[in-house]
Amino acid sequence: MAEDVVVVTGGSRGIGAAAARRLASTGATVLLTYVSSAGRADEVVAEIVGQGGKAVALRADVGTEDDCLRIFAEADRIGRLRGLVNNAGVVDLACRVTDMSFERLRRIFDINVLGSIVCAREAVRRMSTAHGGDGGSIVNLSSASAKLGSPDQYVDYAAAKGAIDTFTVGLAKEVAGEGIRVNAVRPGIIDTEIHSSGGDPDRAARMAADLPMRRAGTAEECAEAIAWLMSDAASYTTGAILDVSGGRSILP
Ligand code: NAP
Repeated sequence: MAEDVVVVTGGSRGIGAAAARRLASTGATVLLTYVSSAGRADEVVAEIVGQGGKAVALRADVGTEDDCLRIFAEADRIGRLRGLVNNAGVVDLACRVTDMSFERLRRIFDINVLGSIVCAREAVRRMSTAHGGDGGSIVNLSSASAKLGSPDQYVDYAAAKGAIDTFTVGLAKEVAGEGIRVNAVRPGIIDTEIHSSGGDPDRAARMAADLPMRRAGTAEECAEAIAWLMSDAASYTTGAILDVSGGRSILP
């Protein structure tokens, strides 16, 4: 019988690595991708294999269509696609919209939005019962910034995550009758290295006291929500956007 395959984009560290570890415990082969952290991706694979799971790492930049296509060609080689976690995402240095270059905007939207949509397209082409598939599940990583807007920081990233929310709802309705559920997890401030790439490595620790729960979240807490949405336990849940934000994204 063909292996069940789950793709996790950006699985070399942070939330994606935690999701890869968590999903491997379901018995599926996890195909995790990375763009520059080859050693970290190999470590996640080794950890999963060491615990009796199955995982493969692949270098693929989701900001290019060719690399997105390579991810799914590799998934086809391994087995039958059952799910996709569209986790890979990037921020840029904090600045005002007036200082955002076109190149920056292109990168933010290529990776966060186009990458997620193209990967979802490829997953639907394989999992949809209308295309001969057996159904499956897609979880997109949004952000509390989609609701908050992130002024003076990264409004571009927030807008890209707003697009992910809308995409989640639209695609969920489009494929609900084809055996595919599409949901999103909307993290708040999670203690990962993404804040360093935004030029503010201490952001999670500094903001902790001002968050409703007085602490940042962990990658593992996000992974639990992802794993539930991916699982059959969430069989009647589609188009949902689940806040994992310790109360941060509750609007007044
Ligand atoms: P992270 O620690 O910075 O990890 C990002 C992951 O994405 C890494 O595995 C990285 O690979 C990969 N990646 C980056 N650019 C890529 C590209 N072009 N193509 C493929 N993979 C790429 O981020 P995180 O905090 O875990 O965030 C994961 C997701 O949650 C993102 O979508 C993010 O926007 C969202 N989120 C995070 C927070 C938070 O506070 N942490 C809050 C809200 C939403 P390399 O290691 O090879 O660079």
